[in-house]
Amino acid sequence: TTRANCPPDTAELGRATWAFLHTTAAYYPTNPTPAQQGHMRALLASLPALYPCGWCADDFGRAIAAAPPVVSSRESLSRWLCERHNEVNVKLGKKAFSCDWAALDARWKDGPKDGSCDCECAAVTGSGHVLTA
Ligand code: FAD
Repeated sequence: TTRANCPPDTAELGRATWAFLHTTAAYYPTNPTPAQQGHMRALLASLPALYPCGWCADDFGRAIAAAPPVVSSRESLSRWLCERHNEVNVKLGKKAFSCDWAALDARWKDGPKDGSCDCECAAVTGSGHVLTA
């Protein structure tokens, strides 16, 4: 049996959402325009209102209120998001992830140095992990 075509549960939705958010942060500009910063703030601010896991949305709303998104660069946004994800990890009894720059880029942008994630995808960004530029 496969659950591939079933609606996502909380964990699957969470994994997909974190993948979207961390990857978007990894490719966010180093020097975002005011418009790009506004779009990112709006994207993050929409989650407490719309995310279809009520208690996740409520807690994320509190997390954003306590630590407003830092959208001034991809480095600061990626770190901010890593810290918020770690708050959820700790709440769920999981290990915290390293928010070191190298660890974040290896996980969400470049892949590990040993090349184990490299692919022949119609490459985009040099390392070829994301499908379109
Ligand atoms: P995930 O936590 O989904 O992480 C996916 C991958 O991201 C990991 O395998 C790891 O490689 C990487 N990663 C882990 N931590 C970090 C980090 N700090 N920075 C960068 N990369 C990292 N579930 C609940 O049960 N209760 C909640 O209240 C809840 N709130 C949520 C709020 C939000 C905004 C989101 C997006 C999800 C929430 N979830 C919640 C879902 C939960 O966070 C997990 O996604 C889910 O439990 C599946 O966990 P996982 O162990 O597969 O890995």
